[in-house]
Amino acid sequence: MAEYKVFSDLHTHTYYSHGAGSPRDNVLAAIDRGLECIAISEHGPGHFTFGVRGKKLERLNFEIAELRREFADRIEVRNGLELNVTGFGRSDCPKNREDYGVVIIGYHKSVAPFNRHALGIWGESLLGIKNDPHRNAEGILAAAEACRADIISHPNLYLKVDVPYMAKCCRQLGILLEVNSARVTLSKQELIAIKEAGCGLIIGSDAHTPERVGDFALASKAVTEAGVWDAVRNARPV
Ligand SMILES: [Zn+2]
Ligand SMILES: [Zn+2]
Repeated sequence: MAEYKVFSDLHTHTYYSHGAGSPRDNVLAAIDRGLECIAISEHGPGHFTFGVRGKKLERLNFEIAELRREFADRIEVRNGLELNVTGFGRSDCPKNREDYGVVIIGYHKSVAPFNRHALGIWGESLLGIKNDPHRNAEGILAAAEACRADIISHPNLYLKVDVPYMAKCCRQLGILLEVNSARVTLSKQELIAIKEAGCGLIIGSDAHTPERVGDFALASKAVTEAGVWDAVRNARPV
């Protein structure tokens, strides 16, 4: 069986939110690990505790642009953002979405339910009254489509989603589903269903320390066990 190498890490955090290293530390770690591309994808402004917003977000983007220029001949550096679903079909997507090199979206805790629909999602699911994976999938899919997201992070984390349905929709929308290497949130059956739907996967470290940038061990193990490497868009046979 062919061996695969993951060549990019589009999901990393820094001390701008609740990570430990600087953007520069993450870029240097990615170069060290032989990656071709890295994104700094901080938590979006809608996250109460970790969200990066306002002047701080501007400073981060400026810093990433500097790093992009400095390391242009060694690695591609992208400015990313990991958005939060803030309601059914809604997110904290910034107005200048087009200025971002990669946009990720995921369900997170500590996000305000801003409208009636959000209360529906969070109330039903987090209070354990009713957990409807199909509705949860529809809520994030509508938000992902509205902000033209590239990736949905850690499906099933915090809120269970209907993965086969999500995969069908994501194939049509051109959105990739993440195999998160900090904790794998997709079962073997779900990984196979994603591949069978023709939807692409992407492996991300979700690193919160420079040491974990490019750490794809858990995701790689899950992808190997499910036999779905050919659906992973940031890996190629070596
Ligand atoms: Zn996340
Ligand atoms: Zn993350």
